[in-house]
Amino acid sequence: MRNEVPETSKRVLLLGGTGDALAIARALPAAHVYSLAGLARVPGDLACAVRVGGFGGIDGLVRYLRAENIALVVDATHPYAAQMSRHAHDACALADVPLWAVRRPAWQPQPGDDWRDASDWREIVERIASFHRPLFTLGREALVHLHEIPASQRWTIRCLEAHPGNERAKIIDARGPFDLEGERALLNAANIDVVVSKNSGGRATEPKLVAARERGLPVVMLTRPSLPDADRTFDDAASARDALLRWLDRIHTSET
Ligand code: NAP
Repeated sequence: MRNEVPETSKRVLLLGGTGDALAIARALPAAHVYSLAGLARVPGDLACAVRVGGFGGIDGLVRYLRAENIALVVDATHPYAAQMSRHAHDACALADVPLWAVRRPAWQPQPGDDWRDASDWREIVERIASFHRPLFTLGREALVHLHEIPASQRWTIRCLEAHPGNERAKIIDARGPFDLEGERALLNAANIDVVVSKNSGGRATEPKLVAARERGLPVVMLTRPSLPDADRTFDDAASARDALLRWLDRIHTSET
């Protein structure tokens, strides 16, 4: 697909770190830029340029947009990467660059689900207090609390980091997508009695919710942060990618 997309002097900055962003990045020609915070794996097989690391706040991003001749920013960051989304919104307003955003719809509870909302770490700790074998799927956040694990609990933490854990915590260094069979096996093997999750939306990490429902386990769900508006928003990567390819085509036509 990328060979069919014409080149243009106006560049797109795609903010990523998610599977959605990678799917869009695969359609971007060489002139455009895919930006990662540095948490996720850096793909080596893209036609577009890849840059890694922060911009230095809103001011740094404004400077970057101007210096790199960016004509469109696409925010396809994780729904909990609220700071980056806010910075993109503010920097685009200051630099007068349009902003598009992929805003994955949140998961909704299904019949049989027992979800318990938590708005921060303190509330998560309260919600899991009566359980013994929580599974944390929040990313790295839980790792900074390893010294706080009560004697009554054994934690399983799945995140993108190889970490030795401790006598009360086992760390599973694994990257999604995760399938239902694997999630069933994990809940069973670790004797999990409560799952702690972000409401990330999308398919890649949804099977843990199905596995929890099947076992009648509660899920403590970290509340989503609020995200800024964008000039255009898309529910999924495919619709954002298709709109982006049409945008590139129009820009190319207007330049030739
Ligand atoms: P964040 O708190 O919104 O961003 C923190 C800073 O990281 C930003 O201010 C920016 O630094 C830099 N940054 C973030 N995304 C960037 C990008 N695509 N390109 C360049 N710089 C970027 O987000 P986060 O720390 O990345 O993650 C917050 C939450 O999202 C965590 O819970 C994490 O588990 C989840 N998450 C993030 C990613 C990811 O790849 N970012 C993937 C999956 C899940 P400057 O201010 O210096 O520009």
